[in-house]
Amino acid sequence: MSKLDDIVSLCKRRGFIFPGSDIYGGMAGTWDFGPLGVQLKNNLVNTWWNYWVDKRDDMFGIDAAIIMNPITWEVSGHTATFADPLIECNDCHSRFRADKLVDGYSESITTEEFKAINPKCPNCGKTNWGTIRKFNMMFQTHVGAVTPEDENGSETDKELARRSIAYLRPETAQGIFTNYKNVVDTIYPSMPFGLCQFGKSFRNEISPRDYILRDRECSQFEIEYFVKPDTWEENFESIRTEYLEFLQKYLGLSKAKIHELEVPEEDRAFYSKRTIDIMYEYPNGEEELMGIAYRTDYDLGNVAKASGKNMEYRDKNTGETFVPHVIEPSMGLERAILDILSEAYTEDEINGEKRVLLKLPEGLAPYKFCVSPLLKNKPELVEKAKFVYNKLKEKYTFVTWDDSGNIGKRYRKQDEIGTPKCVVIDFDTLEDDTVTVRDRDTAEQVRVKIEEL
Ligand SMILES: [Zn+2]
Repeated sequence: MSKLDDIVSLCKRRGFIFPGSDIYGGMAGTWDFGPLGVQLKNNLVNTWWNYWVDKRDDMFGIDAAIIMNPITWEVSGHTATFADPLIECNDCHSRFRADKLVDGYSESITTEEFKAINPKCPNCGKTNWGTIRKFNMMFQTHVGAVTPEDENGSETDKELARRSIAYLRPETAQGIFTNYKNVVDTIYPSMPFGLCQFGKSFRNEISPRDYILRDRECSQFEIEYFVKPDTWEENFESIRTEYLEFLQKYLGLSKAKIHELEVPEEDRAFYSKRTIDIMYEYPNGEEELMGIAYRTDYDLGNVAKASGKNMEYRDKNTGETFVPHVIEPSMGLERAILDILSEAYTEDEINGEKRVLLKLPEGLAPYKFCVSPLLKNKPELVEKAKFVYNKLKEKYTFVTWDDSGNIGKRYRKQDEIGTPKCVVIDFDTLEDDTVTVRDRDTAEQVRVKIEEL
């Protein structure tokens, strides 16, 4: 088993991540967070929000609707170009993403390039391919009282069906650009300022794979940082420095495993003057964790044109007006979770015994403390332990109780789910009000007064 298999198995065994709709045979490209996983996820979201929004004076949060007016996606270019190259095997009719069957090609691969290499069909082994088609990855739906029959009904019905088409948002960023004017007109932020959003986005991937790295439903942390055009370089640098610090200090990712990739001009979106991909070495190789892109005034310019509204910002002090430029750091939640787990997953030996532990940063661990009585059949120990448990729960919230099996088994379980401290109540506690506190990473035990916890 590879290290990634070990992580996947731990996540399922301990209730972090389950395959989506598992009980009915699954649903490709979807994953469900279990009791421990949702706690880790919520802690990550709160850590991010706290760092980027709460602690700063120049950042504000928004939470836009998932279903937006479809004009949004025409304006952003998603309707026309948010597509992957789809190829079909003429023999078994399996469909694949063409650029993933051959090495060294991007989404812009042509049928000629593909057929020059002519890879074998991963399903049937033949090489009888059709031509590459552009497959739009937006999930389409109908909004309002429209039935499937309307699409094949009278001309009026068809028109009704056509006009009711909407999409699940393929990115969260457009919800920020479409609210830029609302925010400026209501809270008059000083320049530069950022709008932050966390939420779901949807991509109908042709072949979802790599565990939670490429799923069809995912969550994004996005910031659009609006700056005066001639200050974009310094703002890009400060966002970049701050984000790298955030990844190390709060997500626990080690500097040696984070790599910055300066995206060359030919690979950047045409409007972007600079893009950095931040890669992380997870067990199966390097994968993109996030990107930081300088998007000029491309997005606000498009919104202005399509809406007929003025997107200019008027400087409160100088009276100067300009359309702000934008720096966009964008990170995927599932990618971040996988990187955090990869970094935290550790195998070591304690007193000659092998163990698995998750060295999660304290702010992310599902539980901060586990409280247990040394023996569960001694009522006086259980009673004292309940007292300590309730006291800690009031103070730290994320505290769990465990009185199953023997103490060694409990430690191993808490190590595996990343609980930093185990607190054990024994007979000495009844005498002197001290408890044993065991550290997850070192397995060292110290006696601590209950009131000092
Ligand atoms: Zn085939």
